[in-house]
Parts: sequence; structure tokens; C-alpha cells
Amino acid sequence: MDEKLTFDVIKTVPKVLLHDHLDGGVRPSTVADLAIKNGYKDLPTNDPLNLAKWFRQACDSGSLEKYLETFAHTVGVMQNAESIKRVAFEAGEDLANDGVVYAEIRFAPELHQNNGLTLDQVVEAVIKGFSEAEVQMKNEGKPIVLRALLTAMRTAARSSEIAELAVKWREKGVVGFDIAGKEAGFPPTRHLDAFDAVRRANFHMTIHAGEAFGLPSIWEAVQICGTDRLGHGVRIIDDLSFKSDGEIKLGELSAYVRDKRVPLELCPSSNIQTGAAKSIKEHPIGVLTKLGFRATVNTDNRLMSDTSMSKEMYLLVTELGFTLKQLQWLTVNAMKSAFIPFDQRLKLINETIKPKYAQIAKDLNITF
Ligand SMILES: [Zn+2]
Repeated sequence: MDEKLTFDVIKTVPKVLLHDHLDGGVRPSTVADLAIKNGYKDLPTNDPLNLAKWFRQACDSGSLEKYLETFAHTVGVMQNAESIKRVAFEAGEDLANDGVVYAEIRFAPELHQNNGLTLDQVVEAVIKGFSEAEVQMKNEGKPIVLRALLTAMRTAARSSEIAELAVKWREKGVVGFDIAGKEAGFPPTRHLDAFDAVRRANFHMTIHAGEAFGLPSIWEAVQICGTDRLGHGVRIIDDLSFKSDGEIKLGELSAYVRDKRVPLELCPSSNIQTGAAKSIKEHPIGVLTKLGFRATVNTDNRLMSDTSMSKEMYLLVTELGFTLKQLQWLTVNAMKSAFIPFDQRLKLINETIKPKYAQIAKDLNITF
């Protein structure tokens, strides 16, 4: 590994985040505080430090029930506009402080309706939180662009409604549609009407596919649903064959995904918790990067995985030997794959990302 790439240096490099769940990134102290304010009584403890530990342990336990319980708590304290707005604001603040310059944060509006909020009210609260964070962080000299993706739950039957909602908010901060939730038994093709609606509106989508479940799920997402990006997509590795002489052969699907530059929203730490990869050292992001897939690195659930973009990048450096140049490559890949207009993406790449990486390389005397 490059010894110059310390954690403190990594914190300063510009980052782009495409796969981050709002309800998976709440600060432990905020979960505890909102539980008291909102009269939510189901938390295992109200002490922020113990709560942070509990979240981490519940997610590492290998028990799906425990894992799902963690989201029940974060969503449980986000049932009024003020709480949702606060969580959105704090997400923007935390990401900007971590060096993120552009983020698409996703959430499922249908999960925030327990106390009678309409879907529009949920989206409005998130967008307000994002806008306020953008203003505040710009004032602090850490500008960030925050956009929302609306997620439909694949186990439910509201995807068309959510797709329509996403399109309705397209000019006001929502840039795409997503489906998430249990993959096995709930193939993306169950939601074809929603994807059709998104495509007919010339809008954007990403689909959680190829995380727990393998190639058929990725194939459906790409070839039947017409997704723009793959949420995870890490199981595309199953379509590569490793020959004894070191040659790697791509199957038809993986070749298609690489050739068409379909972005992979890879989330290393999260994949280890859910069993999609054994360790960072063995995580497919290494080989997928070498083969030139449109790989990006993401956090998924910052609270549950106790992670951040800096932590994920640092793991890539220490465990897989990623260089500064490769970190820039991942970042530019992500920016190219974002759902904001092309000219805005280009501007961020040429005026923010590349100059800052060049400056850091120069400061550290790294040939770039
Ligand atoms: Zn996810």
C-alpha cells in the first residue's frame, strides 16, 4: 500500500456517493434523541454510545431478524416531517465533512407514513433537509450537491405509485427511482410497470440486484427492466472464470455489463456484513477495477456498517493496495454515472474532482 495515503489524507480527497440509504445513515445520537422527542419506546437503549454498539453488533450477528430490527428503529423515529428533515440535513452535513462533493441518497417514502404523512410530505421534508445542508456546508467551505432517489420496496406493491412520485419530483431534487428489499423470491420483473413508467418519462433508475442473489437478478435488472445502474451488482463476479494461467474470461452477461459501461454501486463493508463477500481483500471490487468495469465505491448503510466514504476508501488502500489514481478513477466513474445532467457532471469532474486530486498528488509528491 501507499504509506502516504493515510486516513487523514483520504478524508480530504473529493468523493462521490451513489448508494447510501437515509434510514441507514442516521447518527446514533439522533436516533436516541428523536426516540425521546417522538415518544418511541422500542429502542434497546437510549444511550448513544451503547446504541451505536448495539447497531453494529446487531448487523454483525448474521441474524437477518436483528439486521431488519435496526431499520425498524431508524424508520420508527422518522415519522414526522421535522424528524425526517433533521436526518436529511445531518446526512448532508456528515457527508460534506467527510469530503463528499456529490451524493445521491435514497429512501422509501412508503416507510414513513405510520403517523399519517403523505408521500409528498415525506419527500418534501427530505428535500428541505438537503437544501438547508447544501447552504450551510457551502458557507462552511465544504460545498456538496445532494440529490434524492426514491426507493420502492420490492416486497410491497406500491412501486408504480413511487415511480410516479419520483417523476413528479424530478425538477425539485429527486433524480431517480430504485427498488430495494429482499431479493430472493422477489425478482425485479415483479415491478415492470414501474420501470416502464420511469423509462417512458425519460427518467432514471437503479435497481438493487446481484447482492444476495446472483446473475439471474442482474440479467433481469439490465435486460428486462432496463436499469441505468446496478445497486451492488457485486455477484457479476460469478460470471467470470479464472483460468489457472491467470487469464480471466468474461461470460456474456459480464461482458455486456462492462462493454455497456453499466455502473456497479459496490459497497464493500456492507457486502461483508450480508455475506456477499468474505473479506475486503477478497472483495470483487479489486478484480472488477482491474478489468475496467464501471466500478464505484459506496457506503450503503453508514450507521449499520459503522462506515463512511473515507473508511471505505481507506480499506481499499490498506487491504487491496488502491492508489490515489485509482481512488480518483472510482470517483470519476461515480460522477459520470450520476443522474444529474451531463454538463453538471462534467463541471464537477473538471472543476472540483480532478484539480483537487492533482493538488493532493502534488502535495504528497505522488506521480499521477
Ligand atoms: Zn442498498
